[in-house]
Amino acid sequence: MAILDIRLLGDEVLRVPAAPVEAFDEELQGFVEHMFETMYHAEGIGLAAPQVGVSKRITVLDIRASDENGPQPVALINPSVTFPDDETERATEGCLSIPGFDEVVERAWRVRVDAVDPTGTPLQLEAEGLFARALQHEIDHLDGILFIDRISPLKRRMLLKKWRKAQEEG
Ligand SMILES: [Zn+2]
Repeated sequence: MAILDIRLLGDEVLRVPAAPVEAFDEELQGFVEHMFETMYHAEGIGLAAPQVGVSKRITVLDIRASDENGPQPVALINPSVTFPDDETERATEGCLSIPGFDEVVERAWRVRVDAVDPTGTPLQLEAEGLFARALQHEIDHLDGILFIDRISPLKRRMLLKKWRKAQEEG
């Protein structure tokens, strides 16, 4: 077992667009296993590599803790997302890098994701609802975007103020 350190809001690595993966080797496959272990340990439903300090386009998801009918766990390398229609949904969202803070975020209801798996085999996903939301959240991480960037400036200011206070108080 290897539990990786999860980087928190304020850590610069969360804000850097991540680089594409080019080598589909054992090192990548081992890292993906460590990401899954770290995600389960933290009781999250998704984790992106920048959240453990690795600025690469890698994310793992398993939403079954929140949706028992959810799909099997998936590791996505170099994913890209497209939106088949304009339907959106507002729902509460959190992030392992901003523990203790949830906000309502508007997201596309349906997405299509193109990626490759850790062996370099292309894969395509179509998702809706919570799984689509989680995919958008994790792929945002790979572009240095956090869910707090998708809430109103007023709510963001309030959240950041509370976050800083909580950090100071330890
Ligand atoms: Zn997150």
